[in-house]
Order: sequence, then structure tokens, then C-alpha cells
Amino acid sequence: MFCWKINSINKEISLSLYIMSILETKIEFVKGVGPQRAELFKTELGIFTYNDALMHFPFRYVDKTTFHQIKDIGPYTDGENVQLKGILRRLDTVGQGRGKRLSGVLRDDTGAIELVWFKGANWLQKSLQIGGEYIVFGRVNNFKGKISIPHPEIELAAQQSETAAQTLAPVYPSTDKLNNKGLDAKGQRKVIAAIFDKIKEKDIIETLPQYMLDKYKFPNRYTALKHIHFPSHPIELKKASQRLKFEELFFLQLRLLQIKKNRKNTIKGYPFEKVGDYFLNFYNEKLPFELTNAQKRVIKEIRKDIGSGRQMNRLLQGDVGSGKTMVALLCMLIALDNNYQTCLMAPTEILAQQHFESIHEYLGETDINIGYLTGSVKGKKRQALLEALENGEIHILVGTHAVLEDPVIFKNLGLAITDEQHRFGVKQRGRLWKKSKPHPPHILVMTATPIPRTLAMTIYGDLDVSVIDELPPGRKEIQTIHKYESGRLRVLGFMKQEIAKGRQVYVVYPLIQESEKLDLKNLQEGYEALLRDFPQPDYQISVVHGKMKAKDKDFEMQRFVKGETQIMVATTVIEVGVNVPNASVMVIENTERFGLSQLHQLRGRVGRGAEQSYCILMTGDKLSNDGRERIQTMCRTNNGFEIADADLRLRGPGNIEGTQQSGIINFKLADLAKDGKILQAARHQAEEILDSDVLFGKPEHLPIKIFMQNYQKKTKGWSKIS
Ligand code: ADP
Ligand code: MG
Repeated sequence: MFCWKINSINKEISLSLYIMSILETKIEFVKGVGPQRAELFKTELGIFTYNDALMHFPFRYVDKTTFHQIKDIGPYTDGENVQLKGILRRLDTVGQGRGKRLSGVLRDDTGAIELVWFKGANWLQKSLQIGGEYIVFGRVNNFKGKISIPHPEIELAAQQSETAAQTLAPVYPSTDKLNNKGLDAKGQRKVIAAIFDKIKEKDIIETLPQYMLDKYKFPNRYTALKHIHFPSHPIELKKASQRLKFEELFFLQLRLLQIKKNRKNTIKGYPFEKVGDYFLNFYNEKLPFELTNAQKRVIKEIRKDIGSGRQMNRLLQGDVGSGKTMVALLCMLIALDNNYQTCLMAPTEILAQQHFESIHEYLGETDINIGYLTGSVKGKKRQALLEALENGEIHILVGTHAVLEDPVIFKNLGLAITDEQHRFGVKQRGRLWKKSKPHPPHILVMTATPIPRTLAMTIYGDLDVSVIDELPPGRKEIQTIHKYESGRLRVLGFMKQEIAKGRQVYVVYPLIQESEKLDLKNLQEGYEALLRDFPQPDYQISVVHGKMKAKDKDFEMQRFVKGETQIMVATTVIEVGVNVPNASVMVIENTERFGLSQLHQLRGRVGRGAEQSYCILMTGDKLSNDGRERIQTMCRTNNGFEIADADLRLRGPGNIEGTQQSGIINFKLADLAKDGKILQAARHQAEEILDSDVLFGKPEHLPIKIFMQNYQKKTKGWSKIS
């Protein structure tokens, strides 16, 4: 046999072929599947082979240790899962059109109950036997006092040999199409059990070294898979799932760290060896304040990195107001000292402009040339700018993603900084790399959305991370208050009071695509109400929303920035960046509709000046538990990391801003919100292996070597994700 021959040539290759020979068997060859159902497995679940099926994990388990008596089922058990054993008495098609259904009656010694199916009637009618003894499992439904069990799992009692022995029955994700062909939870369970009948323990190749299994008391891979599908005890299930989660996270971390290590070893960067006059003159003479310890530490980290001769890829996390701009500027000055150009990119025009202005202001009188490039810089002005950039007259370029366009050519770009990273797509960031030759520029990604550590390790697992975890001194903590609709009058009074002191106020409305029309209407009505409560000429109000033309938006925004208006009514367009130190009150409408991170970002718009600032969270009278917890979190803390953790816990990693595009976090089992400890352990093990045995040459690392050979192929594109 072909396989056998190779086997004798190379033991490693044989192992992977061996995996193919059994676990790669097509699913249609499992007993009871066949071509038709195999097709459904493919289209509905992406399952082609035995292996795919084994990796199709239950999403929950139901307790099937006890049988209920039919007499105990009634309106009071509505919605509960029950397991019954009885004789199937009748089976009829009843009703017409959309109400057409298959109705059966199950009877035990204590009573009878109706079973109903709206779908798959033909198949069921053929396969069920009237008079047979069945085990039925399902959820009780009370429809106007009529009790039934819709779409129950049903199985001949005599056949329930395997699953009956279990305390926990797996429930698999299914679809209508699958259910209709008998591939509901029970059907899938049978298929997986049949696969386990066909394979042997040795067919499941271990992927982790024995010493790791010993260290964490993990079951081997075969046992883990068996127990995740068919646990006979909760502890067995837990051990299995911990092992499989660990495996999932471990190989991801190993891959990310490998990419990082590779890049560090192979991709050279411009060595910014010296700190010269630009930096020192500024630092010694112009710095308007003492840097915080966190800022100092971060600058040291960056300096070490950019001086090393390797390319820097660093994420800089710092809460709103933590002083990232100054850090960026100091890094840019180091680049200038080494005769390189730098650029700073922001996601919106307004933000770019603010950066441009604050850098100008920080630098004061200077011979450093700062360029400004956005979509609205056009014609001759643009042409002149591009020329000055190419011949090196411009030292610092500040702009939006217009900076990435092809005609923008630098003489020697040495450092590229992006602000509010999550607004930039992965591709756009990739284009930065190509803006410099022979090496890519050093990259510093700044974000004000604090990302929980576990998430950062994964999404940015191949980046170095610096954190500014300290705010400049003297800031007054923003006071956050929750008010129901009934308290609105007092809120209006408070706004008047603050405006009388010379302050400005934001009033923010949510705007999401799905309910855009309604949201805009809400904003419009809110605006009109405010016009009545705050009449001209005493008060002026700006209004800004996403549907306005950029020019009008800018005009309104500028009026507020200049202090010509006292109130800014807006949708979340003001979310990122705008700096109006005199604005000290933020009223957020329909707070319950905002995510935590978003609220935190919004709140960061106030508290930028010396005054005491306030954030007022308005909600309707009815709050969901989740909504209440979010609002309590906001009132309790101003710490972005704490908020990010709560957000991760409440919404799961998929909904945290910046994660969707990464594509890395679609785990089969692991949950970054809950499995932080496993992740830490996995990361630690991965680091240890890369430090001690980077090529996986040690005999005990052979399983890893084999696994990684396949994995690397699948994850080739990842190295470009920064
Ligand atoms: P971020 O971009 O991180 O939200 P900024 O860079 O806009 O924050 O800084 C917020 C404000 O704090 C700015 O007015 C800035 O001048 C000021 N600032 C920054 N660092 C310090 C510091 N070490 N001491 C005092 N004020 C600082
Ligand atoms: Mg900023």
C-alpha cells in the first residue's frame, strides 16, 4: 500500500498520512448517513469527514438521568425540559395549510400528553411505530391551557442503549433542514457515536507533549474528544473541555508568537540610534508639563525597540486623556533626530486636524515642517505638499487615510503612527509597510479603547504592547450620574446652571444603521425640544449627525469648538477624539442602547479641562439586567480597563470593537471572557517552547511539530495583520 511504503521512509509524514487515512474518511460512510444526509452535513455544518464531525462540539448538555411522570406536567411546567417514557398511542396529520402538523399522543401509567411536529412529518410518520415504547425529551409548551411538547426528541426505548447510560446528553447546533432529515440533536448524537465505534484510541493523534498532559492533568486527546461528546459526569466534561480549550489557545499563541519572533529575527528596521537636538531641545525647554511615570516608561520601551535595528510593531494603549499625543510627538522627534520622516494618521478629518493643531502648539516656534493631508486638501496645495514630502522638506505628515494613497511618496518614512487603530482596516495598515524602502517604517498603533489583556494577547498576540495606565495629575474625576426620564426637568436645570458658569454641554443620541430613521427622528425631536428649553438669543445650539454633509458637520463642530454655541446635539460622530476642554457636561440619551466601551469613549469627551465634569446617563424607566449592569459599571468606575473587562464579560469578545476584523477569535470552545487562566497558561507554555526549542526538534515536541506543519499553512496570511 502506498501509505505503508511512505510510512517506512519517513515516520513523520506517515503520521500525517495516517491521520488522513482514517479520520479523513467521508462522513457519508458512517452508518445511517449516506449521500443525502452527508450533503446536508456539508452544506449546513461544513462537516465533510469523521474528523470534522468529531470537532463539531455540543453547545450544551441536558440532564437525562430522570424520567418525569406525565401527570406532573401542566401549565406550571411551561417551558421546562422533561424526559418521559411511554407508549406512542396515536399519530395523525391534522390541520390545514400553515397550521398543518403531525400530532401524536404519548401515554404512560399516569396520563397522556400531545407531541407535535410542524416539520419533517413525512419522515417521522414513516419511522415511528404506533404502540412502541418511546423515550421522549423536549420542552413543555402551554398554549392557552393546552399542554404539548413541540418537536420533541423521540427514540425507541429499546434503542436507547448508548445514550441512556449517560447523565449528560450532548446537544449539537442544528438547523431546520437537518431536523427535517432526522439530523436533530439526537440524530447527530448517533452519527458521532457511530464514528467512535469505528475508530480506535490510537487513531486520534495526540497533539500535546506528554509532559504538558502530566502538568495540567489533562486527558489525552482521544479521551478528551470522547468525553466532550459523551460525558458520563460533569467533572469528566470539565476536564475534557479544559484540555481542548487549552489546545485551541496554545496553538494559536504558539503561532502568533512564532510570527512575532520570525518578524523580529528577519525584518530589519531603521536603527534610531541617537537622541539628538530635536528631542532634547524640546524635552528640556518646551515640554509644557512633567511627563507622567507611565508616559516615561512607555517612551523608554519604544526607544529601546526603535534603537534595536529591528522593525517596531507596537500597540500603545492608553485611556482617553492619558496623553498619547505627547508620547507620539516625542517618538516623532527621535525619528527626526535620526533624519527620518514620520507620519501620524487619524481616522477622521476633525481628529487629524486636532492632532495637527496640538503638535503645532506643542512645538511652538520651530524649524520642523509639518504637513497636513486629508481628502479635502486639493489642487495646487496638494501638489506642493506631495512634492515637499518627496524631497524631504516635510518632516512630519499629519493626515487621514489619504496618507496611504499611492501618489503620496515619502523621501524616507521611518516611523508611522496611527491613532484610534480600530477605525483602520487591516489592509490599510498593510499599505503603510510599503511606504518605505528598504525597510518598512516602525509602526506605533495608538488606541484609546482599552482592550482586556486576554483579548489583547490574542488579537495583538504578535505585537508588542505598551500601556499608559496613569492619567496626568490634577484631573478631576468625571462624576457619572444615572437619571430616569422622570428626572429630565432637573437635568435641564442643571444644564442651565453649568452654561451660566460659562461651560458647554454635549447631548448625545445613539444612531445605529438598523434603526437609523427612528434614531434620526429622536435626535431631531430632542433638538427641537432643546430649542424650546434653551431659546435664542440667550442660547445657541449646534447639531451634528452622520447624515450631514462633511462641510456642514465641520461648520457646526467648529462653532462649538470656538464657543459660539453652548450645546452640541450629536450622534456618536463626536465619539472619537474631539477636544473641547470647556465642555464639562455630557448628557447621553437612551444610554441603554450604547455599549460600554462606546459609553466610555463618549464620556472621555468631557473632563478635559480644569473644571469638574459630569456625565449624565439618561434611560427609560425599564432596564434590562444587562443594561442596568452596564450603567452601574459606568457610574462606579472611570477606569477604561475595568470597563473593558466588564464589556467583554457582558457581550463576549465578538462584539468588542476592533475584534470583528481580526478573524482570529472564532474559537470552537475557548471563550476569552471566561478562559483567561487557560489562556495565560497556554501563552506561557508557548513562550517556553519557543525559547527552548524553537524548531520543535526535541523528541517530546514531535506532536507539536506535526501539528504546526499543517497549522502554518492555514495561517499564512496572519503575519500581515499588524
Ligand atoms: P489622549 O490622546 O491619550 O486621549 P491627549 O494626548 O489628547 O490624550 O492628552 C490629553 C490632555 O492632557 C492634553 O491636553 C495634553 O496636553 C494633556 N497632557 C498630556 N500629558 C500630560 C502630562 N504629563 N501632564 C499634564 N497634562 C498632560
Ligand atoms: Mg488622542
